[in-house]
Amino acid sequence: MASGDRVAIITGGANGIGKACARRLSEDGCRVVIADIDTAAGTALASELGGERGRALFVPCDVSDRLSVSNLLAETRSAFDRLDILVNNAGIVARGDILELSEADFDRVIGVNLRGAFLVARACAKQMVEQIEDSSERADDARRRYAIINMSSVNGIMAIPDQLAYCTSKGALNQLTKSMALALAKYGIRVNAIGPGSINTDVLKAVNDDKAAMDKMLSRTPMHRIGDPDEIASVASFLASKDSSYITGTTIYADGGRLALNYIVPT
Ligand code: NAD
Repeated sequence: MASGDRVAIITGGANGIGKACARRLSEDGCRVVIADIDTAAGTALASELGGERGRALFVPCDVSDRLSVSNLLAETRSAFDRLDILVNNAGIVARGDILELSEADFDRVIGVNLRGAFLVARACAKQMVEQIEDSSERADDARRRYAIINMSSVNGIMAIPDQLAYCTSKGALNQLTKSMALALAKYGIRVNAIGPGSINTDVLKAVNDDKAAMDKMLSRTPMHRIGDPDEIASVASFLASKDSSYITGTTIYADGGRLALNYIVPT
């Protein structure tokens, strides 16, 4: 099967980093499934990427809901009959440290960023394993086409006090990445994560409008600029490609040098 026939699901694919990943994988020749709770933006992107020509599909999906995730896989099978790549990208933020964060906000962030990532990854991994076992694909061929990419963060390593739930979810996502990589290596399914630094999406809107907050963010970014979503999409493209065929169980940080700085965040 030609690499142009690869099928990719991108969760949270309607906006921001996920949208850039959907565009980039589409340019790489993949058929893309955009899974998101934002129906208007998801439908528009699927249309832009060739929905009418069978090159793209939008599926409304809340990753924190198991039935919604089952429906995502069913719709993908029905439209494209296979799955090769998952970009497990949907994520949300809530402010609050250990003294102030509500139980509801903790559950909401963990529900999307961690439980949601687990539900989608599990469903996609089962679909991939079923394809591998049903087909005559040799392990070598499989190794070059199946990839799961979790969208982590520098906050998987670097803690920020008032983002307790977010940091916790991303730290756990790094371990989910490693555990999955170990379990799926024998099938040739590679599992990696990307750890972005500060990237220019809606998540940064509040910072963009606040000079002091922006200065603080830039002061802890050695490249002294905010990243572009395309600079994360290119890492996803690499991790989904044959060029990364010996890489599994790792997180690649695209952070303008932030983690190298080992900066202590002022409170
Ligand atoms: P964004 O808010 O621009 O986009 C997130 C997308 O996820 C939206 O389309 C939203 O509708 C969707 N979404 C939210 N909840 C969902 C759910 N329950 N089910 C399905 N879709 C849902 O955010 P972004 O900045 O593009 O972030 C994408 C990922 O990158 C997240 O996992 C985030 O934690 C991570 N990340 C972002 C940055 C950054 O600076 N922007 C830095 C590090 C990591």
